[in-house]
Amino acid sequence: MKLKVLVVAGDGIGPEVTAEAVRILRSVAELGGHDFEFREAVIGGAAIKAHGTPLPESTLEAALESDAVLLGAVGSNEFNALPPDKRPEAGLLQIRQALGGYGNLRPAFAWPSLAVNSPLKPEVTDGADIIFVRELLGGLYFGQPREWNRETNSAYNTMRYTRDEIVRVARVAFELAGSRRQKVTSVDKANVLETSQLWRATVTEVAKDYPGIALDHQYVDSFAMHLMNIPRNFDVVLTENLFGDILSDEAAVITGSLGMLPSATVGGKVNLYEPVHGSAPDIAGKGLANPLGAILTGAMLLRHSAGLDQDAQAIETAVRKVLEAGYRTADLVRGESKQKLTTQEMGQKVFEALNEIIDRSQALHAV
Ligand code: NAD
Repeated sequence: MKLKVLVVAGDGIGPEVTAEAVRILRSVAELGGHDFEFREAVIGGAAIKAHGTPLPESTLEAALESDAVLLGAVGSNEFNALPPDKRPEAGLLQIRQALGGYGNLRPAFAWPSLAVNSPLKPEVTDGADIIFVRELLGGLYFGQPREWNRETNSAYNTMRYTRDEIVRVARVAFELAGSRRQKVTSVDKANVLETSQLWRATVTEVAKDYPGIALDHQYVDSFAMHLMNIPRNFDVVLTENLFGDILSDEAAVITGSLGMLPSATVGGKVNLYEPVHGSAPDIAGKGLANPLGAILTGAMLLRHSAGLDQDAQAIETAVRKVLEAGYRTADLVRGESKQKLTTQEMGQKVFEALNEIIDRSQALHAV
């Protein structure tokens, strides 16, 4: 398998966590005999320093020539005084838009050994394994017209969807459900909003092409409550941009630490993979960052851009084993006597666990 990955590590803890994710991906390539090529480019504050712009043309070109883009995080307090379109975060929005991904996948998974890290009771989070499919390029965030009229002291945004925008993201959700527990929950506000009525009718129509997948519809307000009461009831959750933004953050409490969360944006010219967290300037350069979100993002890259599902699973199993063995980065320590590791040490533990898993499965195949 040949794969060209552009690594844009970005700012703050971005380079620290991305280095560990790349180490794991290199290890998968070596052990599995794959040919992965990693190129590096700058984005965000690092790009402003080097090129005066948060997304240099050279970075965008390299991204468009790649099979996948692995991004760390952007954002630096140094540039807080710049106008929004010149700040590091503008680079992130620009690359997301240029790559054109419309399906944002965000897993919310209850790692059994991290149950104590969630503010929810273990009996509530136990068994939760959800993946959100959030529509990323439509709805209220992009709809025109939009305005804040300072003279009349009024403002408005437009929530707009076309059937085609809904069909393409719904297909992402149904395909995913096929490789999981065969269930899609579509979340809308069809009792009030016309966009949601179109959403519900379109999703129902798309579902006919996937007879093996169970579909249910929920209103966003009651779904927000059920998500905290019985998260294990959900498999794939499909929703529009604004609802997905809010609900996937709400679901993050199931996992218990921002540092554990991966994400993927699919459907565009090139898929974009990034951990959910930001550049965390408060802990940057101190070896305190949790690299597991970035490493799990690497697993998503293998699954969705390389079709290497077994290798992705091997990474996820390695992370589980390291957590079960009691290893923790600072953000995961909760007063118990766990072994506290630096970013690099945690990467090393996952590396060792992964090598053991892949060695063992190769030995089994050889028998
Ligand atoms: P943040 O995600 O960077 O940090 C929030 C808190 O979580 C901090 O206390 C941080 O130390 C902690 N944290 C985050 N990731 C961690 C990890 N891997 N391990 C351990 N602890 C971790 O959010 P913020 O503080 O609101 O924003 C900081 C900067 O990041 C800002 O410039 C913001 O615009 C930017 N940002 C970027 C992205 C992105 O690149 N996708 C996302 C969110 C925020």
